Amino acid sequence: MHIVVCIKQVPDSAQIRVHPVTNTIMRQGVPTIINPYDLFALEAALELRDRFGGEITVLTMGPMSAEDSLRKALTFGANRAILLTDRRFAGSDTLATTYALAAAIRKIAHEYGPPDLIFTGKQTIDGDTAQVGPGIAKRLDVLQLTYVAKIRALDLIARTLEAERRAEGGVQVLLTKLPCLITMLEATNQIRRGCMADALRAARAPILKWSAQDAGVEDLSKCGLKGSPTVVKRVFAPSARAGKAALVEAPEQPAQALINAIFEHQPKLEAELAALVRE
Ligand code: FAD
Repeated sequence: MHIVVCIKQVPDSAQIRVHPVTNTIMRQGVPTIINPYDLFALEAALELRDRFGGEITVLTMGPMSAEDSLRKALTFGANRAILLTDRRFAGSDTLATTYALAAAIRKIAHEYGPPDLIFTGKQTIDGDTAQVGPGIAKRLDVLQLTYVAKIRALDLIARTLEAERRAEGGVQVLLTKLPCLITMLEATNQIRRGCMADALRAARAPILKWSAQDAGVEDLSKCGLKGSPTVVKRVFAPSARAGKAALVEAPEQPAQALINAIFEHQPKLEAELAALVRE
């Protein structure tokens, strides 16, 4: 069995600060981490490999510094790590990101065998779009299960997988054929610490670095800024003053103060909620 896990290195959002004057995010000096959802995806892959054998390839597209996250994934027990890195990928939106990642996965299939499963996180904590997993599945023409909370069963002979998917109002149990792509939810499993043998191996393991050409990217006009039709029209920054007012007025009751502030800005909301409660 071969599993590919896509991970993204993201700024640690707990340590991000907003510039008090410009209201822009201050990224300088902010430590990076593996996107938390991707750790749940990696753990799900490791659990399957523990039970059924096989290999796990971790893949990320990012700058050279993303090597740190790949090495960390190796310490958890992944077999190989590939960093897709090329200046021509800079400025990629989700369309261009999925184009490059799908090309790399095709190349991985060619070099190390076709993946039975591809894992991604549900979404990242910086971009937040949740588009990359489904985008890769579409480009590779494989089935996709999104918002997966648990893998219940895998049958490598029948080539089927049964998973629990969190849906509005309940849980769906779905059976799908392999190969498929899964996007994992948060807190779906207990992330392991990694053992000493894997840590030693990870410290010495090579991180394969692929350029666009190495990954077999055919059309460079679909990469990076050139291949990114998304336009950021406006950024809405939170008003620092509004938040402060709510907390300063009633520091001992911040929740009530925030609710009052929300109702003040959304006058109809209070009446609508009251009507719902009456129903
Ligand atoms: P989501 O769709 O929320 O991620 C879902 C899952 O997909 C993740 O959990 C992970 O498993 C996988 N995944 C996502 N991204 C990667 C990745 N890179 N490698 C491996 N797996 C991945 N971002 C920059 O960092 N630099 C830029 O220069 C830049 N320029 C941009 C320009 C424009 C016009 C726009 C609109 C966006 C730009 N972005 C840039 C943001 C970029 O679009 C997103 O970071 C990227 O497409 C991933 O989207 P997301 O973070 O929403 O991922």
